[in-house]
Amino acid sequence: AAEPVSAARQVLRRVFGYESFRGEQQDIIEHVIGGGDALVLMPTGAGKSLCYQIPALVRPGTGIVISPLIALMQDQVDALRALGARADFINSTQDPDQRRTVEALYLAGELDMLYLAPERLRLPSTMDLLDRGRIALFAIDEAHCVAQWGHDFRPDYLALSALHERWPDVPRVALTATATPATHQEITGRLGLENARHFVADFDRPNISYRIVPKKEPKKQLLDLLRSEHAGDAGIVYCLSRASVEQTADFLVTNGIAALPYHAGLDARVRARNQARFLREDGLVMVATIAFGMGIDKPDVRFVAHLDLPKSVEGYYQETGRAGRDGLPSTAWLAYGLQDVVQLRKMINSSDGDAAHRRRQGVHLDAMLSLCETVECRRTGLLAYFGQERAGSCGNCDTCLNKPETWDGTVAAQKLLST
Ligand code: ADP
Ligand code: MG
Repeated sequence: AAEPVSAARQVLRRVFGYESFRGEQQDIIEHVIGGGDALVLMPTGAGKSLCYQIPALVRPGTGIVISPLIALMQDQVDALRALGARADFINSTQDPDQRRTVEALYLAGELDMLYLAPERLRLPSTMDLLDRGRIALFAIDEAHCVAQWGHDFRPDYLALSALHERWPDVPRVALTATATPATHQEITGRLGLENARHFVADFDRPNISYRIVPKKEPKKQLLDLLRSEHAGDAGIVYCLSRASVEQTADFLVTNGIAALPYHAGLDARVRARNQARFLREDGLVMVATIAFGMGIDKPDVRFVAHLDLPKSVEGYYQETGRAGRDGLPSTAWLAYGLQDVVQLRKMINSSDGDAAHRRRQGVHLDAMLSLCETVECRRTGLLAYFGQERAGSCGNCDTCLNKPETWDGTVAAQKLLST
């Protein structure tokens, strides 16, 4: 006899056109459909969206999705509508008329999903609106934004603790790709998810080859890498400053590489156009600040290169994680130099915020430095940072492939700098 096909699987096939669930998706989805709370820690690209989209479609009422990415709400809503789902959003880009139209749809029970920016939930009017409709679930995407300890804290996320008090019977699913034990613990505490089921996926990305090289002439080193291993490939190059984004993009174009710049200083239309081209066309190189990438879903990014040192291992992992979402071999390449450390320490010391904040940033940077300076397997170090143990060499990072010389001078110089 044929097995009964669950509602979740039917939606997976009929709406999303996929044959089977990935990893723990099915368990998570069934749990939330059944009314349970969930905290989902899964790497970028693993498929977290379906974990709330399918329950929102199966459960009666509207799934309320909290997302920090106003710029991407439109894309997400468009994608859902293209599949025939009834989705909309409310954020600060809308005029009052547009907002009232969406509110009316919600109250009439004609929305499967409603995306909200977190700052909307600070408004009593939003709470009252939600009360007058039927809520299927709350999805808190990019949940690490609630963690002060983390690398991407958004004060507006703190207001999300009120959801459970006001609607104790509505299931909540919080999702993030940041899984350090400290962040995990802080999300749990701040959102009151002690009694939720915690789903923690394997964070290893075996198809990504990690490489960290001494920084000499970074643009030229990058060009060598692209010419020798990634000719014609799509990739992302991260730079610390807007100026170096511009210079690097120009340098690549001059040398025959199809590259585009992306940073917050560019006109919004130019930014949107460059992003759209990167997603749509083959073999473009996006040269960007870290303003680019969150929520970007392009499967065939073959390399992510860092010309400057990331400020944290969380950032490094998320940025490199944009490579190889299709599972094919991909490169994460970083040029590491002492000058970057000096510069980042200066930035930290002169940054706003209290002493505790600066101290946290210092700890984040130190963890990144140890990953750069390790002579052991980089993958093992990276996963250990996320509380995940693995044994032996991975055979797919630079330290495993050619045992490096140690960074003798650097350690001494670093001690000097940090005093
Ligand atoms: P995340 O939020 O975890 O970074 P997304 O939810 O954006 O990941 O999903 C990444 C990609 O994987 C999307 O293109 C999505 O449609 C696809 N995907 C997710 N689940 C499945 C599945 N079960 N089968 C096939 N593709 C899937
Ligand atoms: Mg996501």
